[in-house]
Amino acid sequence: LLKSELLADGQTPGHNNRSANDHANGHANGEPLPRGTMKTEFLLDRDLRKAFPVVTGGQGCYLYLSDGRTVLDATSGAAVSCIGHGDQRVIDAMTRQLNTGTPYLCSSFWSSEIAEELCKELIRGTGYEMSRAYLIASGSEAMEATIKLSRQYFFEQDKNTPRVNFIAREGSYHGNTIGALGISGHVARRAPYEPFLMNVHRVSACYAYRQRRASESDESFVARKAAELEAKFQELGPETVIGFICEPVVGAALGCVPYVPGYLGAMRAICHKHGALFILDEVMSGMGRCGTLHTWQDEGVSPDLQTIGKGLGGGYQPIAAVLISQKIIDRLLDGSGQFVHGQTYQSMPIQAAAALEVQRIKREDGLIENVSTQGAHLERMLKSLLGEHPNVGDIRGKGLFWGLEFVKDKQTKEPFDPKLNVAQRVHDAAISEPFNMTMYPGTGTVDGHTGDHIILAPTYISTTENIELIARTAAAAVNQVFKALG
Ligand code: PLP
Repeated sequence: LLKSELLADGQTPGHNNRSANDHANGHANGEPLPRGTMKTEFLLDRDLRKAFPVVTGGQGCYLYLSDGRTVLDATSGAAVSCIGHGDQRVIDAMTRQLNTGTPYLCSSFWSSEIAEELCKELIRGTGYEMSRAYLIASGSEAMEATIKLSRQYFFEQDKNTPRVNFIAREGSYHGNTIGALGISGHVARRAPYEPFLMNVHRVSACYAYRQRRASESDESFVARKAAELEAKFQELGPETVIGFICEPVVGAALGCVPYVPGYLGAMRAICHKHGALFILDEVMSGMGRCGTLHTWQDEGVSPDLQTIGKGLGGGYQPIAAVLISQKIIDRLLDGSGQFVHGQTYQSMPIQAAAALEVQRIKREDGLIENVSTQGAHLERMLKSLLGEHPNVGDIRGKGLFWGLEFVKDKQTKEPFDPKLNVAQRVHDAAISEPFNMTMYPGTGTVDGHTGDHIILAPTYISTTENIELIARTAAAAVNQVFKALG
């Protein structure tokens, strides 16, 4: 950000409102921008026409805006700020690390005690089901490393390995870099870049609300999903498949759609039957968000490779990781003894210091237990306040990760016309007066239908009062938007 003009009073300082940028910002008519918003004159952000509210600080579950408002952060940003904002203990841990003089070290030459300690903590947290952690700066980069590592697993044994195919799911999101986007089944985010994306093979999501047949049991629904994966292996030739990748609880692409009990085990069994890898992306759903440290721990189905991110650093530092099982490490040790990868900003002591302290706080303050308790309360509240709403088709999630799916017709589950931008409208209403609360909007495309959802992902430090306020405010914002839509 080189220079941006803060429009706290709706006036552009230094020159009148009708600047050259007004056109690009959709303000060619010279209308002042809303109070406390910022035009993106030099910062290239996602939406070039929009003015964003400006945040000046935060504490706990709250964000403070430049226009004087206080906003309840009911989404922890993008499910990141799990222990809340401004925790002095993390600030102190980072300051101690900064004061050593080595916030950064080149990971090709050096290790650090703090990075080693973080990895030890992460491996202990898996119950030693995984044996090494590869630290990196973002979820997308963790997915890129996973793509390469899983291919290398086969290459180490056979330089001519026919294993070239990944199977991933529709309605999924694994990141925005080209490899991670290739794995993603998020239609809208892929569209402009399709020619660059690798050829990944797809099976359907595990999406009970839209796919489970009337009176179909968990077992038969899972059996149907397993048969579909098996058929995909057969179609491709099982000996050509590197692995199957999924999010146990789908985040941005569908809005907190959890696996059906038994699903993870059934999918892993098929992968292993064919010598392929079972890979979980827990960047959004993991690190306690769903009520266990790792989502797979609820079912005891450990993966061969797993990505984590967001709740690892809790927003205090950019940090993500690949957790790697021993069978993959053994194969590399028996072969080249190297992972042919590396990026400048990885395994940094400052990243590790923040993430280690965030994990300590979660453990010592009993925050993951709080996720389960408050998550159950959030579920009850949302279902009682919005369960009968004619345009809320489904309320689903796990832990403190809940999605509302909006439909035009509750009986037929017909989605709204995408042009109505229903999820965005709910977000826009919620973030404005009088609600002043974040709700994470999204659209997902499955079976050719694009539907709207919003995500609620409160901080793990949420109290019962916070949860009740979040549920009531969400219901009020939803009611207001659908009343206006008629
Ligand atoms: N995987 C999942 C499941 C995600 O939700 C995300 C981000 O939302 C990513 C990967 C990419 O992570 P990042 O945005 O840190 O690159």
